[in-house]
Amino acid sequence: METSGYIEELRIVGGHVALDFVNTVDGDLEGESRFENLRDYGDLIAWSGRVGLLDPEDAERLAREADREPEGAEAAYRRALELRDVLYSVFRTLAEGEVPPSRSLRSLGGYERDAISRGVLTAGDSGLQWEWKEEWDPALPLWPVVHAATELLTSGDLDRLKLCAGCHWLFLDASRNHSRRWCTMEVCGTHEKARRYVEKRAARRDSQPRGDA
Ligand SMILES: [Zn+2]
Repeated sequence: METSGYIEELRIVGGHVALDFVNTVDGDLEGESRFENLRDYGDLIAWSGRVGLLDPEDAERLAREADREPEGAEAAYRRALELRDVLYSVFRTLAEGEVPPSRSLRSLGGYERDAISRGVLTAGDSGLQWEWKEEWDPALPLWPVVHAATELLTSGDLDRLKLCAGCHWLFLDASRNHSRRWCTMEVCGTHEKARRYVEKRAARRDSQPRGDA
C-alpha cells in the first residue's frame, strides 16, 4: 500500500498522541491555508505506526486487508477525518478557554463507546490497559486515538493544553512555568520572533521625523 510521504516528514510535537493526530493538518483546520498530510488510508496506517499505536506486523496486516477491501479502507479514512474535526473542535475550544460545542462532545462520546466496545482489557506493566488487537477492522487505527483523547480530556492536565501562536497546532506545554507559546521554537518561535522584529523596525521608521517636513 502506497503512502503520500508527507507522514514520514511530519513533525510530531504535540506531546500527546491525540493532539498529534489533530496536527496532521498544517494551518488552521477551519481556514483556507490548510495542507492535508493525511491523504489516504495508507497514510493513516503510516501515521499510526510512526506514533507507536500500531506495530509493523499489524500495520502490514491492515494494509493487506485494505488492498483486499478498498471501500472499507476508504470509509475508515473518511471516518478518521471526521474524528479529527471533532477532536479539533473540542481541543481548540478548550485551549482557548471556552466550552466545547455539545454536538462535538456527543459525537466524541459515540466514538469512545464504539472504541471501548471493540477493545480488550489486558494486563500491562503498570496496571490494566485497553488494547485493540483482536478484531481486524479497517477502523482499528482510530480506536486507540479516540480512547487516548477521552483519557486526556477526562483526566489529563488541560491547563497545559495550548494552541501554537504561529501555526495553530495544538500541544501540551511541558515547560515548568507553562510559558511556551509555540509548538516548536525552531519552526514557529523563530518565525514569530522574525515577524515581531520586522514590525518593530517598521514602527520605528514610521515614528522618525521626515527629512523635508
Ligand atoms: Zn507551531
